[in-house]
Amino acid sequence: MATGNNTASTRMTYGRFLEYLDAGRVTTVDLFDSGRTAIVEAVDPDLDNRVQRLRVDLPGNAPELISRFRNEGISFDIHTPRNDAAVWGWLGNLLFPLMLIGGLFLLFRRSNNMPGGPGQAMNFGKSRARFQMEAKTGVMFDDVAGIEEAKEELQEVVTFLKKPEKFTAVGAKIPKGVLLVGPPGTGKTLLAKAIAGEAGVPFFSISGSEFVEMFVGVGASRVRDLFRKAKENAPCIIFIDEIDAVGRQRGAGIGGGNDEREQTLNQLLTEMDGFEGNTGIIIIAATNRADVLDSALLRPGRFDRQVLVDPPDVKGRLAVLQVHARNKKLSSDVSLESIARRTPGFSGADLANLLNEAAILTARRRKDETGMAEINDSIDRVVAGMEGTPLVDGKSKRLIAYHEIGHALVGTLLKHHDPVQKVTLIPRGQAQGLTWFMPSEDQSLISRAQILARITGALGGRAAEQVIFGDAEVTTGAGNDLQQVTGMARQMVTRFGMSDLGPMSLESQSGEVFLGRDWTTRSEYSEEIASRIDAQVRTIVEHCYDDACRLMRENRALIDRVVDLLIEKETIDGDEFRQIVAEYANVPEKEQFIPQL
Ligand code: ADP
Ligand code: ZN
Repeated sequence: MATGNNTASTRMTYGRFLEYLDAGRVTTVDLFDSGRTAIVEAVDPDLDNRVQRLRVDLPGNAPELISRFRNEGISFDIHTPRNDAAVWGWLGNLLFPLMLIGGLFLLFRRSNNMPGGPGQAMNFGKSRARFQMEAKTGVMFDDVAGIEEAKEELQEVVTFLKKPEKFTAVGAKIPKGVLLVGPPGTGKTLLAKAIAGEAGVPFFSISGSEFVEMFVGVGASRVRDLFRKAKENAPCIIFIDEIDAVGRQRGAGIGGGNDEREQTLNQLLTEMDGFEGNTGIIIIAATNRADVLDSALLRPGRFDRQVLVDPPDVKGRLAVLQVHARNKKLSSDVSLESIARRTPGFSGADLANLLNEAAILTARRRKDETGMAEINDSIDRVVAGMEGTPLVDGKSKRLIAYHEIGHALVGTLLKHHDPVQKVTLIPRGQAQGLTWFMPSEDQSLISRAQILARITGALGGRAAEQVIFGDAEVTTGAGNDLQQVTGMARQMVTRFGMSDLGPMSLESQSGEVFLGRDWTTRSEYSEEIASRIDAQVRTIVEHCYDDACRLMRENRALIDRVVDLLIEKETIDGDEFRQIVAEYANVPEKEQFIPQL
C-alpha cells in the first residue's frame, strides 16, 4: 500500500476529504503520525478515474473515521512511527531483536492488521492536552539507575534550583533548557522527576505529541498557560516529553507546514526567550531524535545543553534491577546478575516491567516469593509474548520441530554463532516454536564471520524443512527468518563493505524528517550498481543456504533423534542439546564475551 514516496505532496483539506469520502471516491488511506496525517488515494471521476494521492491533516476524531473506513470497505493501514534514532538504530538493525531468533511464525496470524486492536489509532480524538502538575514527585536520584553520567551532569541543575545565588553571585549564566536525548524507556521522564524531587520543586509536564492534534491556536495558548502557571510556582521544572512532535524542523518532510505545530513551536520559543535565566524555571525536554529538531530550539539560551541517556549496559541493567527489586520479595535463588546478563537490549522500563510481570506471576501461582522460574517465564514473555497452548502431535508439529531444530543445529555447529539457550515447541506470541540463543553481551562490533553465521542460522529452519520434507512441503513459516536474512545480507553489501563490491557505503542514511527512515531511503547509486548489489546479496544468501542444507544432510540421524525428543519434551535446553549433538558431531567451542560485573 504505502510504497510510493513523496508522491503525496498535494494537500487536501479535511473538509474536502470528508466530501470525497461521502462521494465514495476514497480507495485507500494510510495513517501516519498517530493518525494525524493521512495519505489518501482517491479516484477522480472527471479524469477517467485517475488515481490521486493526497495528503490530509486530520484534526483527530479518527475512531469514527476508522469504523467508517471499515464499513465502507476502504482499505486502510496504520503506520506506527519507527522510534529508534539513527544512532541506536544502525547497529540494532543487524542484531536480532533481543535474544530471539528463528521463531516459526505462521504468517496468516500476523496479517490481521490492527483494526479494533490496541493500536495507536485508538488514541486519537481523546482530548488530553492538559499539562500536569505534581507538587512533589517523590522521585530521587537513587531511584534512577544505570545512567550515572547523565545523573552527574544534571546534579548541577539541582544545585541551581536549590541555591541559585551560588551561580548568580559569580555571574554565571544558568541553563534554561536541557534536552535529554535517548531511546524510549531509558528513564528520561524519571530523571526529570528526580531533579524536581531532589530540588524539592514542583514538576510541570506535558507531552509534545498532545499539542499537535489540537486545533490551530490551542497549542500556543496551552504553552502560554503552562508558562504562566510555572512562573507562579517558580522555582520549578517544566518537562516536555516527545518534544520532536512540536519541535521538528519547520517546513520539512511530508508534514511540512502544519500550522498548529509551527504556532505551538513559535510560542514555545517566545516563552523561552521571554524569561530571564534566573527566574528559577528550568525546562527539560526529552526526545529520541535530536537530529530532527528545529535548529531554532537548540540555539543558545534555549535547549543549549544536551544530555545523552543511553540504553543501559549490563552494569546499568543490574543497577536498574536493584532499584526495582527493592520493594519486591525475591527468593534466594534469584540472581539479579544473571538476569542482567540475559537481557541485553532491555531498557530500564523493560526491566521494571519484567520484575513487575514476575511479581504478578508469583501472586497468580500463590507463592509468597518470586523465584527464578517466575523471572524466566517473565523474560520469555516480555521478549516473545504470551505463552500459547502447544499443538497436539501431528504433521505440522513435526514440521515445526524440524524447523526449530534446523536453527538450533546450525547455531550449535557454527563456531561464530551465539550458543543455543533452548529450543521449544510451546508457542509464544505469534511464534509456533522458538529457538533461543544466548545473546552475546551488548556487542557493538560484529564481524563478517558472525553475520554470516547468523544468516546461515536463520536459514537453518527453512533448510531443515526443505531437506527433510522436500521442495513441495516448505512452508510460510520461514517468512520472518527470510526477511531478517535478506536485511542482514543487504547491509553487508551496502553499508559494511563486506562483499566483492568492496568497502563502500552505498546507502545514505538520509533522515527523512516526517515519516521515519523506511519511507524513503534514497539510493545514491546507479542502476548498474543496484543490480550488482542484488547479485551480491543473492550470492551471500545462496552460499549460506547451501551451507545450512549441507549441515542438515550430514546430520540427518541426529536431527531425527532430537526432533523425537523435542516432540516428547516440548522444550530442550541448550546444555542437553549440545550433549546430544556432541555424540554425533564436533561441537566447536564458542568464544563468548562475558563482561565483568
Ligand atoms: P522515558 O521517559 O525515557 O521513555 P521513563 O522515565 O518513562 O522512560 O521510564 C519508565 C519507567 O521505567 C520508569 O518509571 C521506571 O520505573 C523505569 N525506568 C526506566 N529507566 C530507569 C532507570 N534508569 N532506572 C530506574 N528505573 C527506570
Ligand atoms: Zn525460523
